[in-house]
Amino acid sequence: MRRVRGIAMVFVALFAFAAPALAEKEMNTDVVVVGAGTSGLAAAVQALQLGAKVVVLEKQAKVGGTGSFCEGVFAAESKPQKRIGIDVSKDFAFKLIMNYSHWKANGALAKNFVDKSAETIDWLDDLGVKIEYVGVGGFGGPLTWHVIAPGPDYPDKNPRDFHCQRMINVFEKYVQDHGGKILLETPGTDLIAENGKVVGVVAKEKSGEQLKIRAKAVIIATGGFANNKEMMKKYVEYPEVIPVGNIGKDGDGIRMAEKAGAQLEGMGTVEAYRPGLPGFHPADQMIALAVQPYFWVTPRGERYVDESSVEFWPYAGNAITRIGGTAYSIFDESTRKLAVEKGIEMPLGEWVLQGTKLAKFDDSFNKELAKKRGFAFKADSIEDLAKQLNMDPKILKASVETMNKSAAVREDSEFNKKSKYLRPIATGPFYAVKLLPRHLGTLGGVKISGNTEALNAKGEPIPGLYAVGTDSGGMYGDSYDLLLGGGTAGYAINSGRIAAENALKYAGMKK
Ligand SMILES: Cc1cc2nc3c(=O)[nH]c(=O)nc-3n(C[C@H](O)[C@H](O)[C@H](O)COP(=O)(O)OP(=O)(O)OC[C@H]3O[C@@H](n4cnc5c(N)ncnc54)[C@H](O)[C@@H]3O)c2cc1C
Repeated sequence: MRRVRGIAMVFVALFAFAAPALAEKEMNTDVVVVGAGTSGLAAAVQALQLGAKVVVLEKQAKVGGTGSFCEGVFAAESKPQKRIGIDVSKDFAFKLIMNYSHWKANGALAKNFVDKSAETIDWLDDLGVKIEYVGVGGFGGPLTWHVIAPGPDYPDKNPRDFHCQRMINVFEKYVQDHGGKILLETPGTDLIAENGKVVGVVAKEKSGEQLKIRAKAVIIATGGFANNKEMMKKYVEYPEVIPVGNIGKDGDGIRMAEKAGAQLEGMGTVEAYRPGLPGFHPADQMIALAVQPYFWVTPRGERYVDESSVEFWPYAGNAITRIGGTAYSIFDESTRKLAVEKGIEMPLGEWVLQGTKLAKFDDSFNKELAKKRGFAFKADSIEDLAKQLNMDPKILKASVETMNKSAAVREDSEFNKKSKYLRPIATGPFYAVKLLPRHLGTLGGVKISGNTEALNAKGEPIPGLYAVGTDSGGMYGDSYDLLLGGGTAGYAINSGRIAAENALKYAGMKK
């Protein structure tokens, strides 16, 4: 009963002209959050802590969204950092964000996010979300990625109670235990606007019935538009980019806000990820070897990139779209043996750790090879491999020879790659794995103020409407960066909290 405390449910009979009567449900609350992922649940917890009545709408049958995939969150000047002498100041982080985006990012928003980030680590800690260690985003970068430790239920009672899923579990329980209501399989479909103010949300229940939720403020947190093909085509330069870990991110929140008069910002920017293939788990071992920084070529067989750009994988993600979106990673038997017997050099975040021996590579590769769908290739000679890849053997052979010379003299004559990643392609059999651009989500969305208020065409806040996480634009320029590890999840949590605080100020419930 506590969960529904204060939420008045009334049934209103609507009589449409020349149509049978339809039952329409109506609810009243203080804050409606649309989307129960990272940013939405953070907003809900914060709003409840400030004394608001909260309803959270979730399209899927469970909460979490992309938040069920992430591992760590950004903070600067946090206690875990200070305890072990990590010196990443707020000033440094703020300037890095702004300079990387060439000041295309929203300075007021970036500042509020960075300034709140350390306190958010304390806030998480108080809720029971502990930090396991602080790592980097890209190799050698600043230590800002606060990787979330397993909870007490891990692994026996709850094998998924670790990383950001631990945080999601804690948020969900907090909302349920503190009088909030989470409505699963109940997507928000429209905003209710009256006299220029947003005063609620229309949702669709699993039964198909419409539910009107009247509220003092609405926080849009539906996670962007990674799965909406039309929106991807409309806004993103390389729309076929493969979404990893996203389902049902159809841009609902962004479209609802736009309909209510909100401006959009930064819609073309996606969270470019390591290249890979569709339908593979982020920890798949064929992909793990293919994205080692050794020898990647265009469909013509020409090397096009310093493969170690994958250390900061958005760079590798950008480079592959520049060549049209298809590349092949080619390696020989000695590299396969190195990865299988000694372990990989380049980790894939927490998914495949540095030094992991790829014991499942052969299984994954051979299965894919047998499918003959153009993702995996194997040959006894470079000429034969080139033929299978529809490349001119002369071009591929020349590229291989150049790489082999660079490897022999330990100096990359083409792209200045670090010498430790220079490996010859000399011992057959030879392997090729196709690489395609992937992304972890979209980064453009509703244009917001530094306080996450949705802005109209004149740049004025739309009263009662807030947008957070990947439903909001303004944290990036034309490219995702990995300079500050944990930036997107960190932004999602902090923007959610900022939105809740400002929504309650707007509602006169907080000073
Ligand atoms: C594999 C992977 C690893 C990652 N690792 C990291 C990391 O370590 N650090 C980091 O900073 N970032 C990481 N990210 C990115 C990070 O997880 C996301 O940026 C962040 O979780 C986005 O939060 P969000 O609240 O905007 O969206 P989400 O968490 O996706 O939440 C959106 C929610 O809205 C729901 N929804 C959609 N439409 C509707 C609707 N109409 N009505 C109601 N609900 C709706 C969705 O179902 C979802 O539950 C990773 C992403 C992936 C895919």
